[in-house]
Amino acid sequence: MELIDGKKIAVKVKQELADEVNRLKANGERAPHLVAVLVGNDPASETYVASKVKACQEVGFKSTEMRYSADMTEEQLLAVVDRLNRDTDVDGYIVQLPLPAHISEEKVLMAINPDKDVDGFHPCNVGKMVTGLPAYLPATPAGIVELLKRYDIPTQGKHCVVIGRSNIVGTPMAVLMSRKGRHADCTVTLCHSRTQNLKEMALQADILIVALGKPQFVTADMVKEGAVVIDVGIHRIASDKTKSGFRLVGDVDFEQVAPKCSYITPVPGGVGPMTIVSLLQNTLEARKGLS
Ligand code: NAD
Repeated sequence: MELIDGKKIAVKVKQELADEVNRLKANGERAPHLVAVLVGNDPASETYVASKVKACQEVGFKSTEMRYSADMTEEQLLAVVDRLNRDTDVDGYIVQLPLPAHISEEKVLMAINPDKDVDGFHPCNVGKMVTGLPAYLPATPAGIVELLKRYDIPTQGKHCVVIGRSNIVGTPMAVLMSRKGRHADCTVTLCHSRTQNLKEMALQADILIVALGKPQFVTADMVKEGAVVIDVGIHRIASDKTKSGFRLVGDVDFEQVAPKCSYITPVPGGVGPMTIVSLLQNTLEARKGLS
């Protein structure tokens, strides 16, 4: 069994991005500029935005955090989006979700200029991804593809089972793995909460990608010997073995499952670090133009 070290790969990709920024600057061009819009003070969102800003600094990108109180109106947020769409100094921006209940996430996402939509959530980018056109790919699935690439894990002709069909992880993951290409070309099964015989489905997977949001849900009896297991889930559970009284686990029961795998991502340190790196890659693309 080999551990897929997302932390190590993320450091490597960030170094490559920093080198690219230096090349741009040496050619007299400006560094990529990412803006993060944060409405309200949801603690998890604050943490995510802070780590995105920190990652930008690490690679030499310009980053701006725009903070607004939770009682801002939808109209006010749409005006911010409109300004960002027109600001030529901004290459890409994200509106951190979730938004307060009185603001329509759909309306806001639809208002983002697809050319600056570095989260890849706009239907225009989703459509381009599905048809294989150059597009900003959603960060978590793109990070997973990058891990498979960097470890040169064979995917062509393999059976990939994805558990979870969210718009940000499971569904785009299934699309990317089924596309043509050296690090794709899988036969894909997409499982979800209404899937019958989930265990039988999972047992058929050469590559099992788990994103259902339930701690340690996938157990050893659901995994084929030699499978590649990618664990997207992240949960804090009580532990009497740590000082904090908590530990992080994924959607996979790592201790039980790992011995059966050819490759597996740990939690933390697997998929998580790659998500932010993908956002940086999209922002660089936004600066240079999608290719
Ligand atoms: P979500 O809640 O939006 O979607 C969960 C999906 O799992 C749904 O499509 C649902 O149909 C499916 N599901 C639920 N119960 C199921 C069951 N018993 N059997 C089969 N399918 C079932 O979740 P999400 O946003 O896709 O996130 C999934 C997990 O990944 C969460 O733990 C989340 O915290 C984590 N996550 C991690 C990262 C990262 O960067 N590491 C990024 C995004 C999400």
